[in-house]
Amino acid sequence: MARAPSLIPLSERVYYLPGSVNCAVVVGEGGQAVLIDTGQDKDHGRRLAQACEAQGVKPAAIANTHSHADHYGGNDYLTRSLGLPVYAPPFEAGIMQEPYLEPVYLFAGAKPPAEMLNKWLLAKPSPVDYLLAPGELELFGITITVLDTSGHAHRHYALQVDDVLLAADAVFGLGLLEKYPLPFGQDIGRQRASMTAVGTLGARVVVPGHGEPTEEVGGLVAANLAALDRAAEVVAAACTGVDSATVLKTTCDELGIAINDLPRYTLNLCTVQAYLSYLRETGRVSFELRDNRLCWQRV
Ligand SMILES: [Zn+2]
Repeated sequence: MARAPSLIPLSERVYYLPGSVNCAVVVGEGGQAVLIDTGQDKDHGRRLAQACEAQGVKPAAIANTHSHADHYGGNDYLTRSLGLPVYAPPFEAGIMQEPYLEPVYLFAGAKPPAEMLNKWLLAKPSPVDYLLAPGELELFGITITVLDTSGHAHRHYALQVDDVLLAADAVFGLGLLEKYPLPFGQDIGRQRASMTAVGTLGARVVVPGHGEPTEEVGGLVAANLAALDRAAEVVAAACTGVDSATVLKTTCDELGIAINDLPRYTLNLCTVQAYLSYLRETGRVSFELRDNRLCWQRV
């Protein structure tokens, strides 16, 4: 029989389960635990439940950081099998309840081709029982500080317990930044502010959604900001009176990114468009409609 996955302690009552997506477990009174994000799918949710059992703690609620399928895909299994209530940020909650919205928004609002309807972009629907709000949330004797760290997703919340910041995708692990020099973002101005904020919260350890937890918080934040600023520079330089698809191509060529499937193409296009909005907002690029094309120009 395979050994049960085990939780790794980060503090007296905060643990995490490493994986393609890091999930955290915060243990309160009577061993009741809050699961922070649930991973990609049923298997991920089951592993999380098994890890809790092996640790002797009882899952009692789920809190999700945002609505990307890889962070709440385990909710369906966990809510059905254990009847857990779900807490989620507003806006994101709507997508979690109607997951088809994710492939739809990535395909510019239209019906997406079948290639986009996989578990990477389309999780099973999750109920949402309570909306999270920035501030303090008391659950099972634990004070969870809910922090608005939007930008990677439109309403992305990070959760802090004691001196452990469960940052999810507010920041990316160093390995991920090397592998993906154009990390996903939906609102780049807010994403930049959120990355900066992660460095000011006084956390001893930061757990990114992807990659290793680290106590080198300053270095992690600096690397994330550098990646964002570099991407912004590359996107701006690609704005030579060409359309968004051409900006995407030039940006990927410059950053050494090879896109081989439709889901990745749409994720990268979404990110590039988020950069274009950000650069326009900050007066660095302009656009015009020319010959039925939306053309972007560096200012
Ligand atoms: Zn995400």
